[in-house]
Amino acid sequence: MPIPSTESIVRSTTQAPLVAESELPPLTHFIDGAFTEAGAESATTALVNPADETIIAEVAEGSAADVDSAVAAARRALEGWKALTPKSRADVLLAIADRIEDNADVLIRLESLNAGKPYAVSEDDVSMAADTFRFAAGASRAFTELGSGDYVEDHTSIILREPVGVVGVVVPWNYPLLMAAWKISPALAAGNTMVLKPSEQTPLTALKLLELTADLLPAGILNIVLGLGPSVGARLSSHPHIDLVALTGSVGSGKAVATSAGESLKRVHLELGGKAPVVIFADADLAAAAEGVRTAGFWNSGQECGAGTRVLVESSVAEEFTRLLAEEVSTYVVGDPRGGAEVELGPLVSQAHFERVTGFLDRAIADGARPVVGGGPIEGPGFFVAPTVLADVAAGSEASQEEIFGPVVTIETFESEDEAITRANEVPYGLAASVWTRDAARSLDVPRRLDFGTVWVNSHLALAAEVPWGGFKGSGYGRDLSIYALNDFSRTKHVQINHAR
Ligand code: NAD
Repeated sequence: MPIPSTESIVRSTTQAPLVAESELPPLTHFIDGAFTEAGAESATTALVNPADETIIAEVAEGSAADVDSAVAAARRALEGWKALTPKSRADVLLAIADRIEDNADVLIRLESLNAGKPYAVSEDDVSMAADTFRFAAGASRAFTELGSGDYVEDHTSIILREPVGVVGVVVPWNYPLLMAAWKISPALAAGNTMVLKPSEQTPLTALKLLELTADLLPAGILNIVLGLGPSVGARLSSHPHIDLVALTGSVGSGKAVATSAGESLKRVHLELGGKAPVVIFADADLAAAAEGVRTAGFWNSGQECGAGTRVLVESSVAEEFTRLLAEEVSTYVVGDPRGGAEVELGPLVSQAHFERVTGFLDRAIADGARPVVGGGPIEGPGFFVAPTVLADVAAGSEASQEEIFGPVVTIETFESEDEAITRANEVPYGLAASVWTRDAARSLDVPRRLDFGTVWVNSHLALAAEVPWGGFKGSGYGRDLSIYALNDFSRTKHVQINHAR
């Protein structure tokens, strides 16, 4: 069964830069309503375009002292912001959503430049970022507590909902603007103020967002400190005047944040890695499942925490499904985002990540996995890996258990429903999973037995602002999106009034 492999790559058809220099945001911290002076920083980080390995710019690399200034500004701003009515805060969030939409074009190009994303992925990120602000604005106005009541004789109880206080947020490089929006919108909607650290590799869209919205936000409400995890990120998690620290990132960073936050007993909100199983039963629509995995396994080049990358397929249909998936994946067009709309898959984000993913591939193939499409890197410049499907992956092997975070889908087989569920659950992660079946009872029962924060049936990776996103086990705790995020970024207070006469 010869399967075509994607070896070609669409390069840029133009020498024109994706973003003009004048469109870059200031490349410094944003503290207390203004960008800090450029050149005042002692260290900088070079940003690399992953599609051609050229240097985009040098950005400030902050220190614990910058975090301290930003936290002080956020604390000064807290009383005023939390005193506003939900409607007043919602008006600000809606104005931010409008600004994002009005400036979508530059945000899309900046995201594609910095993270190597095809336009379709950047477009989706930017429109969902705007929608996240809209949802949080509305949700904050509809967010009510239990009505008051007398639960002790002659005492009336009222439950108040308050912000937690100053929130520290650390976000990753795979969805730089979107992951920031997922935290900023519920945290500000709930009345908190914030210090945000973007990934040191992809800070451009968060900085642009602040440049575009500085006039909408009272000073100190939202601050950005640029820099590395072990310095700036670590100070956010240990800072005595931060009340909650939220991280979207890897399991290792999550453990470091939770350990350090434990010293001050601040609240911790963690959205960590994933290794989503895609459980395909023999009664499923196999063509729909293959089409679903084509998108869910490879969106954003598989650099997606909920990516459907670990197929578990019933052995009686494994050969047929593998053929269908290989056909689907071999049609992918890989390339530089400047190659235009036909480019569906971009490069990996960095040289280090490229080496990590190709290392996983080499070890899996040496371990007996059979590449039916792709299987290795595509010649540079740029950090490109061919979209890959690996069959005959052994249960319990590294490729079956570890988050590869690249354009690689593995296929394993199972014999029974019980085996499928046990094997699906045996990864250390618990973020997302999908089940593919036409059996109505199975579609209701199997999701209950899967240990993942999201389980899709006959679908994978469909997200919406109204529904919660977050994991179990090694994928962390806390929920992004939905009313549950507002819950996580706020606290309840019980006030009880003695009215005995
Ligand atoms: P990473 O953990 O290396 O970095 C994430 C952020 O944490 C960066 O800003 C980094 O500077 C910071 N950081 C690193 N060490 C830190 C420390 N000791 N203290 C505080 N901050 C620290 O992750 P990454 O490589 O940027 O992102 C990929 C990971 O993120 C994957 O594991 C992916 O699954 C996960 N992710 C999860 C979700 C989700 O919703 N669950 C969403 C997107 C990405």
